[in-house]
Amino acid sequence: MFKAIFAAVAAVSVGSAALAQSDESDLEDARWSIAIHGGAGTINRDKITTEQDKNIRAALGIALETGSQILKEGGSAIDAITATIMILENDPNFNAGKGAVLTWDKTNELDSSIMDGSDLSAGAVAGINGTKNPILLARAVKDHSPHVMLSGAGANQFSREHGLEQVTPDYYTTPYRLKQIEDVLAKKVSIADVDYKFGTVGAVAMDKDGHMAAGTSTGGMTGKRWGRIGDSPIIGAGTYADDRSCAISATGSGEYFIRLGVAHEICARIRMRWPIAIAEAQLAVPKDEAGNYTYAIHASEFQLSDEEIQQIADDVIAELGELGGDGGIIYATPWGQAGYSFNTAGMYRGRATSEGERSVSIYGDEE
Ligand code: ASP
Repeated sequence: MFKAIFAAVAAVSVGSAALAQSDESDLEDARWSIAIHGGAGTINRDKITTEQDKNIRAALGIALETGSQILKEGGSAIDAITATIMILENDPNFNAGKGAVLTWDKTNELDSSIMDGSDLSAGAVAGINGTKNPILLARAVKDHSPHVMLSGAGANQFSREHGLEQVTPDYYTTPYRLKQIEDVLAKKVSIADVDYKFGTVGAVAMDKDGHMAAGTSTGGMTGKRWGRIGDSPIIGAGTYADDRSCAISATGSGEYFIRLGVAHEICARIRMRWPIAIAEAQLAVPKDEAGNYTYAIHASEFQLSDEEIQQIADDVIAELGELGGDGGIIYATPWGQAGYSFNTAGMYRGRATSEGERSVSIYGDEE
């Protein structure tokens, strides 16, 4: 009996990411998945006009379609999420790139990060401006620097040196964001009450090779000062990807996500749960007359269930809530699942998989 369990557990430890597809050569049939978000917060039907509802759903739909197409054609998860996040950064409806919230000094300080689960390579930038698409700067840090995180003027310089498209400071600003910061400065509304939680963007994906990637981009919080940096550019807090467990992108009250290390915490729980779940499943396998298992469960044929994944994500978000934080996450797993967990009234979100699942949602009571 112990031999059989050991065989199952040993198989887990030597296995890398579980491959959802049994025949790697058949790319056509290989599974892929993607989930995206455009921020979480007090997103109720009475706070969103029909026009906004329509625009947000359309923007999420285009972003989702772009990422899905790349994955469907056999592109990598890291390329799919980069392209997806760029679309959301370019859309003024979101708090990232164009449309980013303003600081106390009415400037923009943008944060972004990206991670490739196949080799745990990562790049992040904090408090930057001048770059049109911060996710491309995070990607450049990952691909072309020996570092993981750059900030401020140095990061801006790195961006120019690497030929990324530059914009003038007024590019990011929209009348809506200007009014928000003016209301805060005039004390008409507190920083805590302003709708700053709408609009951070992120994407997570698994590609046909079973590789995972995650990325997040934001303007941060309206009225932030003193060089405040949230969770979005922090690997392990707002973004994490590991082929052995999951890809996560977060949105919400950054200080709490940092303290819990939310993105890494969810991935770590999945990674730890998997061998235990295999061992538990092995216990249910019938034994022969000599008392040996008739079958040894192999890691490559075992996956955590949708319910287990959802429970792990919900548990971490519940802990976030207990600490006083609000917001949510999107996840993708090496078994092809893609989903969300949030404790706010709503979250701009979408997901699509090779199995034909596709949805774009805003409110908490939607799928
Ligand atoms: N998490 C972001 C931050 O704290 C804000 C957000 O997601 O709305 O900077």
